[in-house]
Amino acid sequence: MSFKKVIVPTEDRQKIYREMDQMFDSGMLTLGRYTDRFEESLSNILLDQKVIATSGGSSALEITCLALELSGFDVVIPSNTFIASAVSFIRNGANVIFADCDKHYGALTLESVKKAITPNTKAVVMVHIGGIISPEVIKIKEFCSDNDIYFIEDAAHALGSSFDNIPAGTFGDVGTFSFYPTKIITSGEGGAITTDSEKLHEKFKIFRDQGKRDFSSNIHTHFGSNWRLSEAHAIIGYHQVQRLNSFIQHRELIVTIYKDKLSDIPHIDILTPEIGKSNWYKMIIQLKDSINKDKLKKELLKNGVKCEGEVYQLPCHRQPIFNNLEINLPNTDYFTDHHLCLSISSDMNIEEAINQCNLINNTFKGVATL
Ligand SMILES: *Cc1c(COP(=O)(O)O)cnc(C)c1O
Repeated sequence: MSFKKVIVPTEDRQKIYREMDQMFDSGMLTLGRYTDRFEESLSNILLDQKVIATSGGSSALEITCLALELSGFDVVIPSNTFIASAVSFIRNGANVIFADCDKHYGALTLESVKKAITPNTKAVVMVHIGGIISPEVIKIKEFCSDNDIYFIEDAAHALGSSFDNIPAGTFGDVGTFSFYPTKIITSGEGGAITTDSEKLHEKFKIFRDQGKRDFSSNIHTHFGSNWRLSEAHAIIGYHQVQRLNSFIQHRELIVTIYKDKLSDIPHIDILTPEIGKSNWYKMIIQLKDSINKDKLKKELLKNGVKCEGEVYQLPCHRQPIFNNLEINLPNTDYFTDHHLCLSISSDMNIEEAINQCNLINNTFKGVATL
């Protein structure tokens, strides 16, 4: 098994080790000043919204489900997402309705949302696949606010992405993030929830810490859990936030190289936002109808091309845990079958990117029919 490379520059490690020393000396190992600082650093890049750090992206979604009191209500979720987007709601009593996506961005559309909603729908969850925000975000947000439905973004892919200068996670009522090691930045394990509602923010804090009315009391008013982030993780996360812009800039450079070198291949397109900015968490290539993805993937791997995991290889409604679902989501199946993710990282060297492109070009030259 290979692990995705994690980039924590030496300078940052020195700072992290020093701060860990201070953390041990202080005796404060959870919900202390380093968590406050991490939350502030996120708030700074999220339009000064109110942010809490959590133990993960999944717990951020669980807290959201509880704080918005979605139990017993329908929640519309794209099938094209990571399993946690759905399970975090189901686990807390919501009834998840899987919606279709569009063929291009692999994201919800206003039309797919309208098809999925019922009179019992209380929330819609949008996922910005690969870090790209679909323009439908605006229409869905407006539709939700007109119909008294919460609009939630599971922005686990998209920290640092924006649309019309609006950062991912800040469009709706609530945005959640993950800092799992494979994401654009990491804290080891970790997540966050952003909102501009003071009331929701206070509720999030209660659910994160065992439903306690406040940190120092032992009075429990809600069914929460231990969804806190430790100070050690918050220290790592803070230094990663400081690197976010330079990581994204480097990724932009790598994408430019791929686009330039692969421009002669008629069968593929690198998925690019029309408006706004991707953080290039994933570099998605879309395959023309004629291409058989599995066959192409095999050929690419045979030729030494590195492919990253797709987003996603198997959509939620096709997962074994949901095997009794009788729903037809044709665009979701289409998106799954017509994309791959090429190798990209925040410190990939240019020669390696050029080399990958040469291998991809060779693969397409060598294969008459795909
Ligand atoms: C990673 C991810 C999550 C879960 O985050 P964890 O930190 O692993 O709990 C949820 N939703 C999406 C879309 C993700 O990519």
